Amino acid sequence: MFGLIGHSTSFDAARRKAMELGFDHIADGDLDVWCSAPPQLVEHVEISSPTGTTIKGAYIDSCFVPEMLSRFKTARRKVLNAMELAQKKGINITALGGFTSIIFENFNLLQHQTVRSTTLEWQRFTTGNTHTAWVICRQVENNAPTLGIDLKTAKVAVVGATGDIGSAVCRWLSARTGVGELLLVARQQQPLLDLQAQIGGGRILTLDEALPEADVVVWVASMPRTLEIDQASLRKPCLMIDGGYPKNLDTKVAGGGIHVLKGGIVEFCKDIGWTMMQIAEMEKPQRQMFACFAEAMLLEFERCHTNFSWGRNNITLEKMDFIGAASVRHGFSTLNLNPSAQAAA
Ligand code: NDP
Repeated sequence: MFGLIGHSTSFDAARRKAMELGFDHIADGDLDVWCSAPPQLVEHVEISSPTGTTIKGAYIDSCFVPEMLSRFKTARRKVLNAMELAQKKGINITALGGFTSIIFENFNLLQHQTVRSTTLEWQRFTTGNTHTAWVICRQVENNAPTLGIDLKTAKVAVVGATGDIGSAVCRWLSARTGVGELLLVARQQQPLLDLQAQIGGGRILTLDEALPEADVVVWVASMPRTLEIDQASLRKPCLMIDGGYPKNLDTKVAGGGIHVLKGGIVEFCKDIGWTMMQIAEMEKPQRQMFACFAEAMLLEFERCHTNFSWGRNNITLEKMDFIGAASVRHGFSTLNLNPSAQAAA
């Protein structure tokens, strides 16, 4: 069985969902009540791949909401409790979705392997970052040409280049896609220099320097809400892959030759018959999901019960090959620009 740990996009959305599901006692509560609410296994699901393999899974809502991010202990407890529930339910491989993987890494939850009487077995969990990185690379490869951008000569900026997903994207784009030039953006210099040495190229720039030069921008950093982008200074056409979470780039730039695509999203080949992706506000919630969630499904389809994506900067091209081939084989495709956007290019 595979598992997905997720959360609502806001406190209001969480309350509405709780009301719908009949958890009235929680729905009516204020943020303090929600802070002490336990995780809930809200849905079971069964999925069949085009190969004929059928798997079962479950969605666990961690009862975390982004409004709790500043409450360090609460956020930590929410993630650990949801992981404990997944393990107690006997789930083989569970993806940490949305902010839960960020909380796990940034708050160093590896130090908290024991939750009450349960010792968490890390091999039962994956961040899903390998599949996310592969999907984002495919989205660059598929969509740049439809906007008339020739990747062989294009400048591709990766914002968050030294992160877990960003560094994998840089390795792939430089070794497999072969882009004109990689523009590496992050705040700390030493990891950027290390990455540059590792991939044997790429130019280190600040965000303000990189944006006006880039034909393609891959966003794989959680940027501050206050970030402002001067649309007039951007190249046109420009493809922007919004791989961060939450995905709100289209509210800052879009239109006039700037094409924003939600990054790290995949679509399954048929309706799944679940309600859980309505929480994540997917355009087609019956088929679309975060690539990190899909990684847990793929590992279950492949009977590969291991923490496939774990820790930082461990994603290899070989692992991306494996998960990418599984993704195609089991009926997933990457989200692409819609045809009207391409026509306007
Ligand atoms: P990491 O924490 O490993 O990396 C974050 C990267 O962003 C680092 O390179 C960091 O470098 C850089 N960064 C952070 N803040 C800024 C800033 N203000 N300006 C420039 N660079 C910045 O994160 P992950 O790779 O795990 O995840 C990256 C993003 O992808 C997250 O937003 C995450 O939510 C999202 N994600 C999306 C998924 C999906 O849509 N399917 C699935 C999983 C994750 P430095 O600190 O030096 O600036």
